[in-house]
Amino acid sequence: MRGLSGLNALVTGGASGIGLATAWLLAACDADVAVLDLDPSAVPEPLRGYRADVSDDDMVRTAVDAAASDLSGLDIVVNNAGIGAVGTVEDGDEGQWHRVFDVNVMGVVRTTRAALPHLRASAHAAVVNVCSIAATAGLPQRALYSASKGALQSLTLAMAADHVREGIRVNCVNPGTVDTPWVGRLLDQAADPAAERAALNARQPLGRLVSADEVAAAIVYLASPAAASVTGAALAVDGGMQGLRLRPA
Ligand code: NAD
Repeated sequence: MRGLSGLNALVTGGASGIGLATAWLLAACDADVAVLDLDPSAVPEPLRGYRADVSDDDMVRTAVDAAASDLSGLDIVVNNAGIGAVGTVEDGDEGQWHRVFDVNVMGVVRTTRAALPHLRASAHAAVVNVCSIAATAGLPQRALYSASKGALQSLTLAMAADHVREGIRVNCVNPGTVDTPWVGRLLDQAADPAAERAALNARQPLGRLVSADEVAAAIVYLASPAAASVTGAALAVDGGMQGLRLRPA
């Protein structure tokens, strides 16, 4: 990975899981990093925390502008904040459907809109959206979540087309099942979390979950000048979950 010295990055949802791993890796590559999150109070140095809910336009604009001012500009935006939902199209009331789209799709719209004036001033501008294999995999019991991530993947392509001539690259990563606090919370709901975790590992082609650090590495690559010719791409980091068609042995 080339050094990111002199580049400034903003990571939404950067206080936990994939976002925190990404913020750390960006900082390890010498970028200056701002974390936007609901509760950034525990974000460690040298990361800078900014409190905002991506579903609140005023909060997002205030936090993005403050980060850009404190860091003296923005080059990289990682739209990672997201929430899940379990169920079929019959589940969840309209409020829940609106809420998930408001965070997973409109949150990206708000953050990117607020960041674009700053990104236009950068010679290495890059946006990376954290999508999911749910966007295209046809997973059961994930109707609402899949629809929101499908919209986000389409939005990524449209944004890449709209801003390519401005030198702003836009890509997404599509993680499989990643070992983060989010997945830990889901496993904790099982009668036997340890057995459920073992079964989940066994269902993965690699025999284990993807790590947050592995997803972070893909995000930082797409955000870096090393990916200067990559835009409009969706990079799966799923341990082969979607691309491989494995048959039971
Ligand atoms: P996580 O729950 O560990 O972390 C999510 C972070 O986002 C938290 O710090 C949370 O406070 C923040 N956040 C949530 N809603 C927010 C809001 N409205 N405004 C600002 N911040 C908000 O989750 P994770 O597993 O690291 O997931 C991060 C992203 O990766 C999500 O977009 C998720 O859809 C995606 N993803 C996760 C997995 C997985 O298996 N963990 C798989 C595919 C995609």
